[in-house]
Amino acid sequence: MSLISSELKKILVCPLDKGTLEENTASKSLSCSVCGKMYPVKDSIPIMLPEQKGDSNAGNLKKSGGPNGRGR
Ligand SMILES: [Zn+2]
Repeated sequence: MSLISSELKKILVCPLDKGTLEENTASKSLSCSVCGKMYPVKDSIPIMLPEQKGDSNAGNLKKSGGPNGRGR
């Protein structure tokens, strides 16, 4: 018994590094084979959120990099 459909599994990759995801039926999650990050699966839907720790600031609008793009 798998956590998600094989169709879905085929197209899913780690949002961080595009690594392939391995199913962990024991922990009901997907783990990236590259970075090892785990993504919980809820009702057959993988929760693919890259990072969400220390996310206490509600107004997180300054994300779309300005003139001096520091991202990279
Ligand atoms: Zn990854």
